[in-house]
Amino acid sequence: MDLGLKGARVLVTAASRGLGAATARQFSREGAIVVISSRNLETLQDTAASIVEETGNAVFTQACDVTDETQVQRLIKNTASMIGGIDILVTNAGGPPAGNFKTFDIDVWQSATQLTLLSAVSLIKHSLPHLKQSTRAAILTITSISAKQPVDNLILSNTLRPAVIGLTKSLSLELGADNIRVNSILPGITDTERIQELAEARAQLNNQTIDEAQSAMADGIPLGRIGSPEEFANVAVMMCSTAGGFINGVALPVDGGWIRATL
Ligand code: NAD
Repeated sequence: MDLGLKGARVLVTAASRGLGAATARQFSREGAIVVISSRNLETLQDTAASIVEETGNAVFTQACDVTDETQVQRLIKNTASMIGGIDILVTNAGGPPAGNFKTFDIDVWQSATQLTLLSAVSLIKHSLPHLKQSTRAAILTITSISAKQPVDNLILSNTLRPAVIGLTKSLSLELGADNIRVNSILPGITDTERIQELAEARAQLNNQTIDEAQSAMADGIPLGRIGSPEEFANVAVMMCSTAGGFINGVALPVDGGWIRATL
């Protein structure tokens, strides 16, 4: 299947590693021109070099902390001038800290809101003038399974991810007239650097091997394993492609069946 992504102009945030980097790599494999951003330029440049080495397609970098509105504005402006516009925006950020209601003071709630919800608002707001000029515009928000089913000890994520889905769905209605599709993916436990770090910590705590810790993390996933970043990225890229051109307003779990809801 031709995804029709050759020459598509794509911005992926929080993409120095993990789901963001895997998504950027898959876009590049499909012939898209990609800008990746995250806070640390050096790490970002290493990631870009590794993608370019594999695909031979141009990958640009721009440092940006997505919690800083001024940096987001600069990111969008520079992206549009580096690659001549924006067709596809993938909003991603690091996850908010783990904990329950008694763990956090109000300032942590505020910074988590900035990181998880307002970063997406700001990225979309500043990208819109460029997306409106595209003939194949798509926005994808990367959220979490916690949007549909609360995850133990993740109250910030459980509260804020559904808000991002609300934003995504509302925008899919509002921006349809501009021919901009807006969707979200809810990743389940996926084998990124972050999950490897968590598995290592868990292994140490419980006197387990890392393999044992990882398979304990897969408890509750009907497929009996955690996902790979490539499995996530394949779906992300398809949803944003012209091959997925009638997918709009969808919040799709890529979770091996972890979410227990019927609909
Ligand atoms: P990761 O920690 O491996 O990578 C996160 C990326 O975000 C890194 O590139 C980091 O530099 C960047 N980043 C963090 N804060 C940033 C900021 N303020 N501005 C710009 N960049 C920033 O995480 P991941 O596993 O790839 O997860 C990506 C997102 O998906 C996170 O929000 C995470 O909570 C969510 N998620 C992941 C999983 C999973 O199992 N991997 C499951 C559900 C949800």
